[in-house]
Amino acid sequence: MLSKKLKILWLTAITCNGNTHSFLNYPHLDIFMDTFEFIYHPSIDSAYTLNDIINKEIACDILIIEGSISTEYIKADAPIVDIINKYASKVQKIVTVGTCASFGGMFRESDYKDTTGLHFDKERPTSLFEHIKEKTISLSGCPVHPDIIANTLYSIEKKRAIELDSLLRPKEFFAYTVHNGCTRNEYFEYKIDNHQFGKKEGCMFYDHGCHAPYTHGSCNKILWNEVNSKTRAGLSCMGCTEPTFPKGDFFHTKKNMGIPQYLPFGVAKRTYLTLAGITKAFHIKRLEEDLFDD
Ligand code: SF4
Ligand code: SF4
Repeated sequence: MLSKKLKILWLTAITCNGNTHSFLNYPHLDIFMDTFEFIYHPSIDSAYTLNDIINKEIACDILIIEGSISTEYIKADAPIVDIINKYASKVQKIVTVGTCASFGGMFRESDYKDTTGLHFDKERPTSLFEHIKEKTISLSGCPVHPDIIANTLYSIEKKRAIELDSLLRPKEFFAYTVHNGCTRNEYFEYKIDNHQFGKKEGCMFYDHGCHAPYTHGSCNKILWNEVNSKTRAGLSCMGCTEPTFPKGDFFHTKKNMGIPQYLPFGVAKRTYLTLAGITKAFHIKRLEEDLFDD
């Protein structure tokens, strides 16, 4: 009897395989495999080899792409662009996992020519795969959280409508910022950054380079390993879900005349200065003291 499971082809391009590693940590992978099957995945037992994928006609429902794309990149003697095009025309949906597949990411700096994401070079739209854009959902992140991959695939399977932002990311996961839900929000409000990495107190926006107020993502809502996030644990967000990643200045806030170079999304410099003036007038002893002695 033919399997009713949705068939996934997981193709890797120029990648460190970080999104594969992330997905292998999905805690409900066994239940997931009741609904989906991999016709090919480089690290999971699957029905076909890469040579089969390239040389035979194999039925497929969802194409997942991990890694940056270059016209020069070859897999098992076939250009990655040709393998993508062969399956892109057959599948219901294409999902890019990770910032490299979505926007080029780290590997834009590689030696391969014109390395980009599937549809974007940073935030600039590219034309090579324009014909399949309407099928694509981008799940950016370095890596993307496994729950976001699984939940997106379940939505495709259930034929739920997925509302996307202008960079093809599901609004359900990317409409708000990583700052939203951080346990340090009270320190942010009163502009207290008396932080040492790993310490429980202080916000890291003012001195320690936290990108979260200008990074779209759900790291403080959908926790990593179901328990924690980078900023809750005491390390600055590096903005890995954004097309500009890697932007640099990961642990240091670049400032002009004392004002952070990058302000929270939607906050004008004048508004920031007004609010800064007001909040600096407050001295909340409870927050300024070290509540937890290490
Ligand atoms: S540490 Fe980062 S995420 Fe947390 S409150 Fe400060 S700016 Fe927001
Ligand atoms: S906290 Fe920031 S850098 Fe870390 S995974 Fe989330 S978006 Fe990426």
